Amino acid sequence: MKGLAFYGVRDLRYEDVEYPKIEAPDDIIIKVKAAGICGSDYARYRKLGPYVPGTVWGHEFAGEIVEIGSNPQGHYIGERVCACPSIVCGECRYCKMGDFAKCEKLYAIGSLQHGGFAEYTKMPAQNLVHLPDNVSYEEGALIEPSAVALHALYKTHIKMGDEVAVVGCGTIGEMLIYWAKQFGVKVYAFDINDDKLKEAKELGADVTINTTGIEPMEALSKYTIGVDIAFESAGNPITEGQVLSLTKKGGEVVYVGLPYGDVTMPRNYFEKITRNELHVIGAFGVTSAPFPGKEWSAATDFLSRSTNNLKSIISHRAKLSEGPAILDDIMENPAGYKKVMLFPEWDNEQKEG
Ligand SMILES: [Zn+2]
Ligand SMILES: [Zn+2]
Repeated sequence: MKGLAFYGVRDLRYEDVEYPKIEAPDDIIIKVKAAGICGSDYARYRKLGPYVPGTVWGHEFAGEIVEIGSNPQGHYIGERVCACPSIVCGECRYCKMGDFAKCEKLYAIGSLQHGGFAEYTKMPAQNLVHLPDNVSYEEGALIEPSAVALHALYKTHIKMGDEVAVVGCGTIGEMLIYWAKQFGVKVYAFDINDDKLKEAKELGADVTINTTGIEPMEALSKYTIGVDIAFESAGNPITEGQVLSLTKKGGEVVYVGLPYGDVTMPRNYFEKITRNELHVIGAFGVTSAPFPGKEWSAATDFLSRSTNNLKSIISHRAKLSEGPAILDDIMENPAGYKKVMLFPEWDNEQKEG
């Protein structure tokens, strides 16, 4: 079978890879139908490289079960599923507390074990989540980035009528906007790119603010004295500080983006934590108890019930074999891409979405 094996910085190869084998009782083999390229994959492709050279890449996918072991835990051949990519040990202190996102041995597929950029892949039964019939495979592949946003939202005290700021409108920012809106809140989206802000609006942002040449809080003050909750989803060393200025006193500031450089900040931002008695929250991962968590059950159930426009987050659909060329192009032209969906099996339906 074919897959995208990751060998080194800017070295991703479409080549023959080994068909997975059922080894453990809970092993399940899935025929991959759609797999998304993650924003975190860009940095890995550009400068970090693979954890283990030659590993099949990709951690956002959905597909159909084709083989099961002796303990499939309710899953069955022919079932449509999406997959939680987090592999947890089940034995550490945090796993025993049900706090799987903090597992000492946590890793995602596509790093230390083969991932979803292949015709077939293998997952533990507990990581698979049933996809309702009316949720497409490409929507199924959007559940993982949705789960990142929901995991962050569930860390807060968000409630209907709140005001929420999302700083940075990349894929995770867009997911935060889309899912925050489902809680009945008013969303302010911040970015320095007008195209991204236009997309943010399409996904439900009520107010979009371009912060080029203006302090975010100064721009926001036209609308409100401060939001209830502010999310940092840019991973930008500058916005990591700015985000602390956006909430009301006593507000919640949630860090979702990982900074891509050292963070230093003006004192007047940092001291907001103290003076404004802020609640600073870190959000990482996609899981909760019972594993893989309500992030997954809520997202799949919601997409099956709503006439949603989440799919508008997909900007490109391509054959799996085109993955390396697309990643090279993303390196040159990152602003031209939103979510890219790859299909091991390609027909005209995929072209249309
Ligand atoms: Zn991802
Ligand atoms: Zn653990």
